[in-house]
Amino acid sequence: MSKTYNIAVLKGDGIGPEVTEAAVNVLQATQETSNFKLNFLYGKAGYHCIAEYGTNLPEETIALLKRTDACLKGPMTTPEEPGAPVSAAVKIRKMFNLYANVRPCRTYPNVEALKPNIDLVMVRENTEGMYSGVEYEVAPGVGVALRIITQEASLRVAEYAFKLAQKRRKHLTYVHKGNILRITDGIFKDAVKAIAPKYPDVTTDDIHIDAAAMHLIKKPETFDVIVTTNLFGDVLSDEAAQITGSLGLAAGANIGETYGMFEPVHGSAPKYTGQNRVNPTATIMAASMMLDYLGEKDAAAKIESAVLKVLSEGKVRTADLGGSSTTSEMSGAIAAQVRSL
Ligand code: NAD
Repeated sequence: MSKTYNIAVLKGDGIGPEVTEAAVNVLQATQETSNFKLNFLYGKAGYHCIAEYGTNLPEETIALLKRTDACLKGPMTTPEEPGAPVSAAVKIRKMFNLYANVRPCRTYPNVEALKPNIDLVMVRENTEGMYSGVEYEVAPGVGVALRIITQEASLRVAEYAFKLAQKRRKHLTYVHKGNILRITDGIFKDAVKAIAPKYPDVTTDDIHIDAAAMHLIKKPETFDVIVTTNLFGDVLSDEAAQITGSLGLAAGANIGETYGMFEPVHGSAPKYTGQNRVNPTATIMAASMMLDYLGEKDAAAKIESAVLKVLSEGKVRTADLGGSSTTSEMSGAIAAQVRSL
């Protein structure tokens, strides 16, 4: 009997609806050739909801997420004015305790990258740190943000990163700024060291965030798994995405004990809204990560193979990759490959 998964789809803002539909199109092709069904449940979330609901994450959407097995999320525009709703992605990550933000970065065939043979995964703590959302204006013109780091959250993200490294090239780099942030990054470093003895086959090293940003440019091919705190991971993963070619290729997973949310690393790129021009591959790879999370490994691998085939053939390429194909042409080419595999 075929299994059915309920998938929440949040299209988001800006280019979100285009890249999300592109990924759903590829998922439809995947389920045609697999023995499971995907039941897509569309929810409202993002900047465009604020005028109607007074929030970017309406209660009905939270209820919908709770009824589903996983969420495919498009990028959302984040309001920046003080007092505006905090990022919907940050709210979902906290609400569902999606503590590990996992962002693979690799070189792709036929895509110009800074260096060949890059294949790393960034694991970023996703629920606390600089994004705890505890910020005050303590006096006019004087602001304070609390960088909350706990042993509990650090231990669980470290454990996730070690497990992942064990399945890969067995090397883990932990990134911090312990020379300055001695208490908070001291807790993070101690947590990584406490987990290390459970994974004796995984070697570790540690570097400061500033050195990590430099080494990612200088010798990105030497990294396997990187684990770090929230803000550092956010910045480093955009950098890692760009050195492998384009933000339009980088996917991310937000993983918790009982739920997962999958999204492109990039944002809503408002200037390209509705132009059918951006690269949907990041969201399509996020959909592949979602199937992997659901245990549908073959289907996940099929999407990845289809992406690699389309990129290596190089006939269909969006503008960020130096081509002139549209978002829907890229999605159509990947879906066609999925059907033929
Ligand atoms: P962005 O990632 O939206 O865009 C930066 C640039 O990257 C774009 O101008 C474009 O040149 C390129 N780019 C992004 N996606 C691409 C794609 N699929 N194909 C080709 N090129 C692509 O970053 P930004 O402009 O800093 O942010 C815009 C909005 O998105 C902000 O409101 C920000 O807060 C939000 N954001 C949301 C998320 C999320 O929902 N998880 C993540 C990052 C940023």
